[in-house]
Amino acid sequence: MQAGLKKGSVVEIVEDVATLRERVLSARCGRRSVGLVPTMGYLHAGHRRLLERARRENDLVIASIYVNPTQFGPNEDLGRYPRDFDRDTAILEGSGTDILFRPSTATMYPGGVDAQSVWIEPGPLASHLCGPSRPGHFRGVATVVAKLFNMVQPDRAYFGQKDAQQSAIVTRMALDLALPVEVVVVETVREDDGLALSSRNAYLSAEERSQAGALFAALQLARRLVQAGERDSAEIVGEMQRLLHSCAPDGRIDYVSIVDANTFQPVERIERDVLVAVAVYLGKARLIDNMMVEVA
Ligand code: AMP
Repeated sequence: MQAGLKKGSVVEIVEDVATLRERVLSARCGRRSVGLVPTMGYLHAGHRRLLERARRENDLVIASIYVNPTQFGPNEDLGRYPRDFDRDTAILEGSGTDILFRPSTATMYPGGVDAQSVWIEPGPLASHLCGPSRPGHFRGVATVVAKLFNMVQPDRAYFGQKDAQQSAIVTRMALDLALPVEVVVVETVREDDGLALSSRNAYLSAEERSQAGALFAALQLARRLVQAGERDSAEIVGEMQRLLHSCAPDGRIDYVSIVDANTFQPVERIERDVLVAVAVYLGKARLIDNMMVEVA
């Protein structure tokens, strides 16, 4: 099963589904397992963590790069989403990825985005946190991930805890639709000050970057308060908001929220494990982060 690290190998770039299926079929005929890492490119060490995990656990590793238009709102950053194909290729090769699937929008949305008629609706997992701030976002995510799963037909697919709500929706989608894929969620990779790596960090000015560590500091504060016995979500959220206002004065809070770790519904009193989540607009970036907090 284990292929071992193939660092320094050449990644094959595939743009069409027929070639992709040939590669996957020949892996399957040899009883080789297939791992998929879906991304929007502009890769960083967070993506690399997913790729390396996929490399360890599968014989054939496929990464996809596709900036999916249907998960962006009309006033979001689709047009200026950062891209650096040469650097991405170097990172993919450095992490031993076998195939880069780089589809066009014509491949992902036959007849164009407006022709898409059947969508995956994410349901109640999308009703809080990023769902209300980004209407249609998770519908776009679930739909494009379902397409990628059908195109690649991986044994395993790797997603980051950094996008906890997305990972939960994809996990639930695989269960609800009996998709034959194991969804693996990988821990968040952070900078030294705790800022979660994100392609969107490239939007931050030096001053904004220096304030961005406040998100992680707020999450850590929440964990400390729960560990010290605080059970009232509103108290904790208030403390976190105060910290964010003082340490990231240029930020605008989208939400600070405490939700049930499984249902993603808000909790007033913390009695079970929760997910503490924040979203903050800082300059041109909208930053999100989260932390699981266990109740002893
Ligand atoms: P993106 O290219 O932003 O769509 O992200 C592709 C995948 O990488 C998603 O599953 C993300 O959750 C994951 N990811 C992004 N940032 C990080 C990070 N800092 N640590 C771990 N995984 C991440």
